[in-house]
Amino acid sequence: MTDERVLVSFNISEETGATSMKQKRQHGKKIVQPHTIIKAVTHICLTQANPGKLAALDVLAPVYLALCQQYVTFFCTEAQPDKFHAPLFPIPLSERWHRVAIQQAAGIAGSWRTNREQRYQDFLDELEEYREQEVEGTLDEQAKAPTWREWDVPTLRQTCIQANANVVKLEVSEDSSFDYWLKISTLDFRKLLFVPVRLAEYHRQALGGKTINSSVQLNKCNDGWWLTLSYDEVITVQTEPNAPVIGIDVGVANFVTTSDGRHYGTFNGRLRERQKRDREKRRRKAKLRACLEKKGVEKLPSTTSRSGQRLIRHVRQEVNRAVNECFAEHPAMQFAYEQLSIATMKHKSRAMNAYMRASNLAHIPKQIAWNAAKRGVPATKVKSAFTSQVCSVCHSVDKKNRPDQQTFCCLVCGHRTQADLNASVNIKRRLGDEELRACKDRQEVKALLMKRHAAWKIVQGWP
Ligand SMILES: [Zn+2]
Repeated sequence: MTDERVLVSFNISEETGATSMKQKRQHGKKIVQPHTIIKAVTHICLTQANPGKLAALDVLAPVYLALCQQYVTFFCTEAQPDKFHAPLFPIPLSERWHRVAIQQAAGIAGSWRTNREQRYQDFLDELEEYREQEVEGTLDEQAKAPTWREWDVPTLRQTCIQANANVVKLEVSEDSSFDYWLKISTLDFRKLLFVPVRLAEYHRQALGGKTINSSVQLNKCNDGWWLTLSYDEVITVQTEPNAPVIGIDVGVANFVTTSDGRHYGTFNGRLRERQKRDREKRRRKAKLRACLEKKGVEKLPSTTSRSGQRLIRHVRQEVNRAVNECFAEHPAMQFAYEQLSIATMKHKSRAMNAYMRASNLAHIPKQIAWNAAKRGVPATKVKSAFTSQVCSVCHSVDKKNRPDQQTFCCLVCGHRTQADLNASVNIKRRLGDEELRACKDRQEVKALLMKRHAAWKIVQGWP
């Protein structure tokens, strides 16, 4: 199957959002260049084609994983991630394998560091907001000062090998009923392992006529070894650089609200019902567990709920559907969406149960980025600070502009509209708002908005 979620986005830069298509000026005209995305074809089963033949790989896996873990820890705690770092640890693997492990570890540590840094910034913003409210005396009674807990270094639990052609080579099979051979170098010096690969019909269709990338991924699960192949796809840009902008607000009541007033997908209704049932089930299970534990039963039922996992998958499918629909209904346009921080997500997801929260909301911007990339449509992340509190007419910023979750009603100019819609209009305008983009933190954003509000008042002839 083609897994659209696996997007290794080399051409995605943090600065300008997902589809950072390079813009070049030629004869005074902006030209948007095509870009490449990597598509992965996952779940190619290795075990069925060759039972018993993968023992050498089983021996190699734990050695590789342990080495990879050593470098992950090293790159997270002692040195900046470096894909070409010199080998540090003595191991029974060849130097080629060693390099593969360093590369993979540098990738893992790199995203860990970026995520941690982002969360830490969010925490600082949250803290600042808390202090502000403390000074103003507007804190909620139950509000607690945000605290920071240092992140643990990632632990590699599942075997995943991101190999290049130096250690695992994919070759077309000419003389057998298999599609390919995987030539894998093993722990034994110069001894190669030949693993046949047989594709399913849908794999063959997905890969038909494509040039397969030389790097492959091997995963080991309980039920055996799986192979992931990938290929590059060049996306031609569909949208003019000066195409009209659609702002997207991300939320719970509506997954996606666009600045032209359309809504896509919701967590309310059936999804919420399912979530309630699931929560009940978990509560009963926890009770039973506690009871059995007291009685000294050794093998306790698991606390993870299968229906909970299914529910999360279902929410994601709904999110994907909603985002897809949104893009399909806005051809030849470009998009602006929020760079969601944890604080904003928390604020937006009060309606959701804890374990459903952040991960699902965070899935929406990812899906927006992916949809834009695969369709060749620009989508740009903009700052999310105050998008839900600032009035899209007079720029006044006030929490009280939101009398309830659904409504926006400006205390100064009286502008009244749906909260999501007001936010999406703000988001739309932030694309190309260089002054706002240059703001370093929430405080600067707030100061700028207040300045604009004052200017608005003068223009309107307010006292
Ligand atoms: Zn207003």
